[in-house]
Amino acid sequence: MKSLRALLAEDSEDDYLLVLGALRAGGFAVTSRRVDNAEDLRRSLAVEDWDLVLSDYSMPQFTALDALGILQRSRQPALPFVIVSGSIGEESAVAALKAGASNYVMKSNLAHLVPVVEREIRDAQIRRERSEAFLALEEAVRARDEFLSIASHELKTPLTAVQLQLQGLRDHLRKSPSNPMQMVESVQARVGRAIHSTVRLGQLIENLLDVSRISTGRMKLNVEEFDLTEAVREVAERVREEIRRSGSELRVSAHGAVPGRWDRLRIEQVLINLLSNAIKYGAGKPIEMEVRGGPSVATIRIIDHGIGISEDSRERIFERFERAVPSRNYGGLGLGLYIARQIIGAHGGNVSATHTHGGGATFTVEVPLTPPSAVADERPA
Ligand code: ADP
Repeated sequence: MKSLRALLAEDSEDDYLLVLGALRAGGFAVTSRRVDNAEDLRRSLAVEDWDLVLSDYSMPQFTALDALGILQRSRQPALPFVIVSGSIGEESAVAALKAGASNYVMKSNLAHLVPVVEREIRDAQIRRERSEAFLALEEAVRARDEFLSIASHELKTPLTAVQLQLQGLRDHLRKSPSNPMQMVESVQARVGRAIHSTVRLGQLIENLLDVSRISTGRMKLNVEEFDLTEAVREVAERVREEIRRSGSELRVSAHGAVPGRWDRLRIEQVLINLLSNAIKYGAGKPIEMEVRGGPSVATIRIIDHGIGISEDSRERIFERFERAVPSRNYGGLGLGLYIARQIIGAHGGNVSATHTHGGGATFTVEVPLTPPSAVADERPA
């Protein structure tokens, strides 16, 4: 049985029962309410959800045109509005249709009611789907434009830095060196900074490529057996210099080996993303990284004592392009956590953010010791 929530504007209880009878005979499981004045109609539209409004044409306290106006100003203005009348002349019917009524049925011919209601419900559903698709499209275009503007800004920052370093280098080389040793050191420093910026540029582009791999389902796991504790320690070594430069320090805590089967490069990428955030948002305070193995799940925690994340943003920041800080204070595309969650998700695990006791953010990665085989491509040992 098809369910139908019908709101009837009808002054006669008998006619109301007749209309309900016709709908039920036509196979509808009807939930209904009868109203016979403007105020009751307004209230019913405000507090209850309906599939359609059926309205008598002229009633002692108001008319179908009044009812239509109330519907159009309500919070459900797109509901089909069908006039069910004992005596509607052709002119009145045309006027009602022009005013926005969907259709009309004569009470003397209630056999027409069911096919009319079925068609109007179907058409309303199609209109709703089209309007939702249109809104989704508008939102996608808005998100794309916003992304393009943020991405071009983010890509331009390291590029400008490289250009400045190279221009400085050129000007420097033009001068005749008074102290060749100093000159070599200065050139080395500038080249070093330029390389640093190109690495940053490369990371940004790699993140963008990952997003496209994820959305087209092309991110495959290359699973191999390794010790997670050893991987954590190695990643810690890789970022140690950057951490030192930020004025912070990193402590790693582990209890022995945590062997399992994962995609090593992808797991390392997640750890680097989380550690880079801990450095960026960590206010120069110490960072801790813990790794623990369980019977079936391994857990890694990255704990910082920096600016922290407000509770209402802790889930949102894992979405694509979502950020919880103003871009003028902290650069970034808002992709690191999205990619991290997708990678860990592909391993059958999850990443979540919580508050660090005393202030700051804690990111917890929980990942099964072996990923679900359906998503993993085995890499030959
Ligand atoms: P990005 O850092 O490029 O903005 P991420 O996806 O890595 O992108 O992070 C999304 C957002 O989550 C950041 O913009 C920031 O608001 C918040 N965030 C991530 N890590 C931390 C952290 N350790 N402390 C505070 N905020 C964080």
